[in-house]
Parts: sequence; structure tokens; C-alpha cells
Amino acid sequence: MMRAWEKNIRRVTPYTPGEQPEEKDIIKLNTNENPYPPSPMVLGAKQELERLRFYPDPAAKDLVDAIADYHGLNSNEVFVGVGSDDVLAMSFLTFFNSDKPVFFPDITYSFYDVWAGLFRIPYETKALDDTFSLVAEDYYKDNGGVIFPNPNAPTGKLVSLAFIKDILEHNQDVVVIVDEAYVDFGGETALPLLKEYENLLIVRTFSKSRSLAGLRIGYAMGNRELIQALNDVKYSFNSYTMNYPTIVMGTASIRDDAYFRETTAKVIATREWFEKELAALGFTFQKSSANFVFASHNRIPAKEIFEAAKKEKIYVRYFDKPRIDNYLRISIGTDEEMKTFVNFLKLLV
Ligand SMILES: *Cc1c(COP(=O)(O)O)cnc(C)c1O
Repeated sequence: MMRAWEKNIRRVTPYTPGEQPEEKDIIKLNTNENPYPPSPMVLGAKQELERLRFYPDPAAKDLVDAIADYHGLNSNEVFVGVGSDDVLAMSFLTFFNSDKPVFFPDITYSFYDVWAGLFRIPYETKALDDTFSLVAEDYYKDNGGVIFPNPNAPTGKLVSLAFIKDILEHNQDVVVIVDEAYVDFGGETALPLLKEYENLLIVRTFSKSRSLAGLRIGYAMGNRELIQALNDVKYSFNSYTMNYPTIVMGTASIRDDAYFRETTAKVIATREWFEKELAALGFTFQKSSANFVFASHNRIPAKEIFEAAKKEKIYVRYFDKPRIDNYLRISIGTDEEMKTFVNFLKLLV
């Protein structure tokens, strides 16, 4: 029997993060982490531990200023949070308060429907076409907001700036969020559209291209009213979200552009090589603009490859979901890691 107090519990279906195995000597290609260490400047940014007895700057001003400077924006056009998951959750809470449904693709970052559920936001998913492309017309209907990653996850597929512009033209009465978690790996940023569209919010993360998944830094860029609204919600929830070492190390990371360019270029080069190898082994996939490839084999079921790889201590991501249950999402590791994975595949297929 249900006890009375149980009726007042918020019931949610939580997001399932990728595995973080404890084992040593594994090849970890399952959660899109960067295979290279963060900038040496990050590791060298020695904070005086004495400072830890103080509360951190609630506005994380140094980090906000560094990000704004990097993108040529004003500091009041940048919001920072504890990973882009935090920034996105705050954005759902702040901008998606309509009775009309929020639109996002059926195959996309699997946190979107979780936040919609958590915050009781109505939503409708729009099916990607057979080549995993977003269909612009699907987003022309009346809605309560639009969100999609570019490049999309887990497909790795990019839409053009013209496509985003078209979506914005048809959605001027709602906030449109472009999640650019992977844009640094060869994508095209929507930043040039910020000046023209005051309802555009762009969200980024330090987790992938800056090798700082463990630090938890994400940010949003948009016009000052959107950023102000986000800050108002944040300060109504928890003022001191970002800790002091994170502010210091994040600032160091954004200032080391040379290292950032070098490591993202390495990941892109490895991806191009890996895509050729995959094609030769009978895999099909859409050209990736991210630090992973979403691939399906013409004969061997994805689940079988996933399980066989795990036995060899190689972790990739498998989603047991409609339409994508015959695909593997393989993060790009170092050249050596990818060669080991390719050799494993050569024996299997
Ligand atoms: C990884 C990812 C995020 C979250 O990144 P954080 O580590 O929380 O900054 C957000 N959106 C997409 C599409 C992602 O793949």
C-alpha cells in the first residue's frame, strides 16, 4: 500500500551516465573524454591553499572574463556553471516555461528529456531522417523552445550555419539553444549569429576539447538579458556553485590557446584515420565532426562487438534504444589506443 507521504515525492527517471570502470589498463572510448592531459598551465596553476578558507567568487569573474575575452564578447554575455550539464539544466529551468512543448531531436543527448521530466516541461521529439539529419520543417510549428547539439550527439553529424539561421528565423518567440559540446572538433559555431538573434543561447563545455571533464566547467553565451535571467535563477538556487581551484584552473586553460589547438587538431587527425579504417572494415557511419564516431557494422550486431571489446578491456558506448541499437559510439583516443581497437576489430569482423 502506498503511504501518504510517498505521494509527494518527485518521481524522475534519471540520466544514465556512461560507465567509469575502476579497472586499470583499459582503453576507455566510452564517454568522449579527451585522451590528452589538460594544458600544463592548468596543472601549473598553483592556488594558494590558504585561499580555500574563503568562499569562492560567486560570479567566477576571472573565468567569465577570460571566456568573454576569448570569444570577443562582453562579460555580461557569458554565464558559467558546473559543467554544461549544470548550465543546460539551469537553461531548461530559466527559459522553458511555456505550456507549449519544447522541441528536440529523437536521437540526441539523452539528458534533455530527463530535465524536461524533472522540471515538468512538456516536450516533443522530432525524428531525424534516415541519414541522421535534423529536418528543419519539423521545427517550424508553434513550440515552447528548441534545443539541439551541433554537432549532434551521439551521431557526430553537423548542421550548417544556414540551417541554424533558418531555425532561428522560424522561432523568434522562444529561446533556441545550440549545445556546442563538440564544436571544437571541426564544427561550425553559431557565434556569428548571436548579434542578429537575441533569443539564441550557445552552450559549451571544458569537458571534451579542454580535457577537463573532471573539473566540471560549462558556459553559455547569449545576449545580456538571457545571461541575467540565468544568473537570477542560479542565485536563487545556490550562489557558490563553482569552487575556487576550478575558477583558477579553468582560467589557465582558456588562456593556453596553443595547447588547445594542438590537442584538438591531434584528435581530428586521429578521427580521420580511424574513419578510413572503419570504412575498410565494413562499418557505415555519418562523417563525424566530433571526438567520436557513431558506427554500425554491415554484418555483426553492435551489441556483440560492444561485449567482445569489453572482454578485451576496450570500452565503447552502446545504447539499447530504438533506431540506434545497432550502433556503437566510439570516442577518439590516442593513435595507439585507436590502433589497438582497429586490430581488435580486424580479428573480429
Ligand atoms: C558531454 C555533453 C554535455 C555535458 O558536458 P559536461 O561535462 O556536463 O560539461 C552536454 N551536452 C552534450 C551534447 C554532451 O555530449
